[in-house]
Amino acid sequence: MENGLLIVLSGPSGAGKGTLCRELCEKSDNYRLSVSVTTRKPRKGEVNGKNYFFVDEDQFNKMVEDDELLEWAKVYGNYYGTPRDYVERCLKEGYDVILEIDIQGALKVKEKFPEGVFIFILPPSMEELKNRIVKRGTESEEEIMKRFKSAYEELNYISKYDYAVINDDVEQAIKKIQAIIIAEKCKVNRNKEYYLSIREGLL
Ligand code: 5GP
Repeated sequence: MENGLLIVLSGPSGAGKGTLCRELCEKSDNYRLSVSVTTRKPRKGEVNGKNYFFVDEDQFNKMVEDDELLEWAKVYGNYYGTPRDYVERCLKEGYDVILEIDIQGALKVKEKFPEGVFIFILPPSMEELKNRIVKRGTESEEEIMKRFKSAYEELNYISKYDYAVINDDVEQAIKKIQAIIIAEKCKVNRNKEYYLSIREGLL
């Protein structure tokens, strides 16, 4: 069986990554969204095991020591990490795995999985970005400012990504991401075995 595609989505807080990931998964049975581990406290309505696996710092450190995380990073003062097992298993089973992680994490994943697809999600404007974070109502004033300021720094890393998708309209952004995934799967270097088999008369 062919391995699935590893798709990494990053971008500033409020760019709408969470919504895009959820909608993408609803549109195809072949996507698997990786649930991260975090030391951040759950927000109202967040469910352990669905939004995140919520752990304390000791548990997080133990996972790091035991090499259970594919990558991890400190973001806005809390630790976040991607459980390795789930991602590797799903990829092997042929599922396309989506990671919604920050830039530090994405760069670490790129070292281990250079064949991954790295997509940067942009807000339509910085004003809209701030509106969205405020409207979400999940962060304190201090947290909002921290996230808003970080957004400018995060934009400096966009050149490390393969694609930029502006999330001004969710449906359109989803279509663009789906198009990226289709195009990536058609790349010659991802179809080597297939065309070699054809050339050798095996298919
Ligand atoms: P939030 O607290 O708003 O859910 O997430 C804060 C930031 O952490 C977001 O930029 C999100 O992409 C990032 N994040 C979530 N999970 C992970 C992870 O497993 N690894 C890394 N490096 N960043 C993550």
